[in-house]
Amino acid sequence: MNEQIYNNTDSYSNLKLERLCKWQKEEKADPFSITVFPTNRCNLNCIFCEGAYERKYKNTSFNSEISDELIERICEEGVNLHIKEWEISGGGEPFIRKHAVMNMIKIIKKVNDTKVKIITNGTLLNKIDARNLVLLNLDDLFISIDGFDKKTHDYVRDDKTSFSKCIKLIENISYFKKKFKIKSPQITMNSIIHAKNYKKLSSFLPFIVKKGVNNVELHPLIIFKETFKYLDKVMMKEQEIKAFLNILNAIEKNKLVSKNIIPKLDTFRKRICLSSNNQRIGVNIEKIRTRSRIKTNDNMLDAYCLRPWFEILIDSDGKCGFCGVIGSGDESINIRNYSLREIWFEKYDILRKAMLIGGYKQQCSKCEKIINNHELKNTGMDTKSKHF
Ligand code: SF4
Repeated sequence: MNEQIYNNTDSYSNLKLERLCKWQKEEKADPFSITVFPTNRCNLNCIFCEGAYERKYKNTSFNSEISDELIERICEEGVNLHIKEWEISGGGEPFIRKHAVMNMIKIIKKVNDTKVKIITNGTLLNKIDARNLVLLNLDDLFISIDGFDKKTHDYVRDDKTSFSKCIKLIENISYFKKKFKIKSPQITMNSIIHAKNYKKLSSFLPFIVKKGVNNVELHPLIIFKETFKYLDKVMMKEQEIKAFLNILNAIEKNKLVSKNIIPKLDTFRKRICLSSNNQRIGVNIEKIRTRSRIKTNDNMLDAYCLRPWFEILIDSDGKCGFCGVIGSGDESINIRNYSLREIWFEKYDILRKAMLIGGYKQQCSKCEKIINNHELKNTGMDTKSKHF
């Protein structure tokens, strides 16, 4: 069934559009995606992680983490609400709660046409876990690799074993996929490009693809806080960004890996240029706003971002919002107090209204994942040209 989803990417995207179009016609539609943060705890302290900063310097308490039973309820309700795309990430490292996460996949994958993606640092899964993930039909496993050799990766992770554990996990997943003749999970190397790693991408790509990586997603370093003491060492200067763009051109020109491996390269190029002036907090938000069409009226298609019309976020405290990038939900809407249905069809009206009148969050100003009608048009998924 996983293959069926991948072979029907168009009908999958159409379903998302179909639901957005319903909202546009002032009918209500089910949510399409959900992001759940099982925990904000992590076994690592990566140097550019906002969560690591919070944990280290803000005495964060983890007492209010949602229980295994509540996570189970969220999954059951989400399945009944016909949610199609599930992302399990954080916050922290989701596999800190391995049992709860494995149980989530079990419940969600009972329904054939749902897709589950997990983002992990790749250090907590042994060979048996790799086997289970393959047999549970997980669709996408994003493994964060932010150094393209052991020395750099372990440096940014502040852990001497993390590189070898990630490589072992990729080998184990690939081994079981082959053994059971199952094509999923697709393994994505999820990488932040920074001053310490950019030079080594070319030599690393063929190696990691050979190990079993199916896709590569590159992200610019985006910094929301100025408080990290090491960031000067990893932030790219203007000339380094130019040098990296040349490296990318050479990767393409020399066909170092097949084009499908790094499908979003053009988007990344635009974003790393945008981020070159904007790696520090307090940048000119107005300038970035101009990249999208913004009007403050009540037409949903003019919203700064359309996420509140198709996505739910549940953070590790149970607070609900509409976007994983924002990192936490709204104080007043907690899954402990309402059903998912009540939250989506009643409580979220206020969040949607806020988005329409320009009440987007600070994180939106630098966001890589913005979805608005302008972005949909660029991808050929124009809501106006589709009639459902
Ligand atoms: S602009 Fe980005 S951070 Fe803001 S809601 Fe949209 S996806 Fe989330």
